[in-house]
Amino acid sequence: MLLQVALPVPLYRVFDYHPLADKAILPAVGSRVEVPFGRQTLIGIVIAHIAEANSDVPSNKLKPIIRQLDDEPILNSQMLNLAYWLARYYHYPLGDVIAVMLPSLVRQGKPLDLLITHWRILPHVADGDFRANAIKQKQQFDMLKLHGERGASEEVLLLEGMQRSFLKTLEEKGLIERYIEPKAAPKAVSLAKMPLDLNAEQAQAVDAIIAVHKAEEYTGFLLNGITGSGKTEVYLQAMQAVLEAGKQVLILVPEIGLTPQTRARFASRFAAQIVLLHSGMSNTYRMQGWQDCRTGHAQIIIGTRSAVLYPFANLGLIVVDEAHDVSYKQQDSLRYHAADVALYRGFQESIPVVLGTATPTLEHLKLIDDGKLTECQLRTRPGNAELATMQLIDARLQSTHQQAQDDGARFDTGLTDVLIGAIKQTLEAGDQVLIFLNRRGYAPVLLCDACGWQADCPRCDAHLTVHYNNSSQQHSSQNSASHSSAYNSNYLKCHHCDWQAYIPTSCPDCASQNLDARGMGTTRLSENLHAIFANPQTSKELYPIIQIDRDTTRRKDSWENIYQRINEGRPAILVGTQMVAKGHHFPNVTLVCLPNADRGFLSADFRSPEHTAQLMIQVAGRAGRGDKAGRVLIQTLQPENELLLKLVKDGYLSFARQLLAERKIMGLPPYSHAALIRCEGKTLAATTQALKDAIANLPAGHKLAVLGPIDAPMSKKNSRYHVQLLLLAKERHQLHRVLSIWWQPVLAMPSVKYLKLTLDIDPVGW
Ligand code: ADP
Ligand code: ZN
Ligand code: ZN
Repeated sequence: MLLQVALPVPLYRVFDYHPLADKAILPAVGSRVEVPFGRQTLIGIVIAHIAEANSDVPSNKLKPIIRQLDDEPILNSQMLNLAYWLARYYHYPLGDVIAVMLPSLVRQGKPLDLLITHWRILPHVADGDFRANAIKQKQQFDMLKLHGERGASEEVLLLEGMQRSFLKTLEEKGLIERYIEPKAAPKAVSLAKMPLDLNAEQAQAVDAIIAVHKAEEYTGFLLNGITGSGKTEVYLQAMQAVLEAGKQVLILVPEIGLTPQTRARFASRFAAQIVLLHSGMSNTYRMQGWQDCRTGHAQIIIGTRSAVLYPFANLGLIVVDEAHDVSYKQQDSLRYHAADVALYRGFQESIPVVLGTATPTLEHLKLIDDGKLTECQLRTRPGNAELATMQLIDARLQSTHQQAQDDGARFDTGLTDVLIGAIKQTLEAGDQVLIFLNRRGYAPVLLCDACGWQADCPRCDAHLTVHYNNSSQQHSSQNSASHSSAYNSNYLKCHHCDWQAYIPTSCPDCASQNLDARGMGTTRLSENLHAIFANPQTSKELYPIIQIDRDTTRRKDSWENIYQRINEGRPAILVGTQMVAKGHHFPNVTLVCLPNADRGFLSADFRSPEHTAQLMIQVAGRAGRGDKAGRVLIQTLQPENELLLKLVKDGYLSFARQLLAERKIMGLPPYSHAALIRCEGKTLAATTQALKDAIANLPAGHKLAVLGPIDAPMSKKNSRYHVQLLLLAKERHQLHRVLSIWWQPVLAMPSVKYLKLTLDIDPVGW
């Protein structure tokens, strides 16, 4: 017999090896082996035992493996089938697919049972009895306390903002201890808190999911519930039935959703083994998480995208929270969509899959129409909480609105009087305001007023963003997170390739000194708001301005600090990028302002209105989630835009249905199926030529619409040129048939030799 092995090489084939002569038993299918490959050695997965006669290579040309790493399979037949399906659907080499599915230490051949230090509060310790001035110690102690009697691994704690020095101090004080978690079978899951009484729509959804679970069948559900309608409670009660049956639950969350609050939502309901999986984990922790899923030790698994590729001992339910989120689509190597993979896995394992969202994608709506997803709607918020009202504000009326300062200088605030008035009113009523501006930094462009020169990135088709902090204001307010001293330098930066430059004092082209920062970033808006609402010279009340973007949350604990300041509940203005759109609860925010979020309705990308609307609804959903009703003001330069009006008047679903109707007429996805081919190289000519050659090689009578080659949206990025080609097919099988005979020869064309060519099935943007 021979071993057929999948290796992590970009080749669409598997490789045959002789087993070791001195071993009577063959390495199992699904286990790791180390093999010679050219001059290197590689670690691969045995995918089959085959007879020598069935190999393409004569037996005497084949080499033996070097060693066997596992006594038992690490990937069972279901996982191998998943790998085959991914390889087929995304036209990606099997060995590379498996490499994506495995944590890096497993890929490197490490043994599966690495040990990890855990910390827990000693059983007799209740509150720790801290001196009044030991605030930080108490805070760190409370953080560990959130994890209950089992505590948590050191890694998780450090990620949450614990500090090693404090762990040591608390240990020395005899309050906490470290231990290596013994891997006994987990206890049966029990309830830590009683479930809520469901409203009728919630109950209907829970019943439907549990019925499918009990029948041991597959159904894909779209839990379509407005923001704040209690989707989480539906997950929790459906989970309860599944966990009580001794099965695991996988909860997928978007990339940035993994705050400690996410874990707490589930930990406060269930006493269970909860495992978090996300990109910030160390390799050791990731491998242990993978192992816990595979052995069944983990009962509730909360993870970002890649968790959908993990092995599970006995999975009973998959929840995809915020299923519309674009972070579920992997944007390099194996370009899978985690929600699609989740549905496939549910089908494979005969279990329910719940896609939860307030803003379903058009793809998911189409699947409902086709009967492939079952829709459960939640149309109301529980209790008294009402959905915020949305209102358009015409920005043109006062697009030159100026705010007079004491010294007579005037500046454009970027906000109309209506918005400023509403903000003032909200603050005076004791509530918080959230202003959404999806652009960090001070200003998006630096322009010469004299000659029109703009500061551009030398490596990209993009302007450099002005990062600038007005230092005079840094001292006047200790309240403002935006002026945290670590980020107070002034510079130009490309947000695409991180190129940085000094801000010139005069124009490099004409030497004029009239350089002007144009447009509005979060820093500048915060500064302007500061001048209006937090400046002792102009305002009687002082309101903190809290800036929330990648620049202010870069440090490990900064998001936690910001969160705490917001949750104190005092009137404040939050200025945030899309970081604030998802998942977060800001119970005291009653006004949400979107000064220019409607911009996406003008974009050339046909998906832009859909994504923009999803973002707007998510942000709007932050308003009035407590007991008070919320208000959303959308400041726009195009108040007559029909789509925008539809969204505001009739809500997201009507809006999405209208977009869907338009897509149908135009034959665009989801009414057609797309593959995007991108070519990247040092010159525009070579990349374009490669795609022309690819088109020339398309099989005759292929029935696809071919769009391109055209420049990618940002054709020059990081000094590389990007050109793309779009293939559209009416039927999915037409597309896949062409790709299966055409794509591999394209990759082998001489003209792509020094270029990077990639294929994206079901791309989310182009
Ligand atoms: P969504 O995820 O749909 O935006 P959440 O799950 O965050 O909404 O729920 C919003 C709020 O409603 C939460 O505070 C939750 O505890 C509460 N809630 C959910 N279901 C119920 C219910 N049946 N009765 C009372 N409160 C509920
Ligand atoms: Zn100039
Ligand atoms: Zn750049």
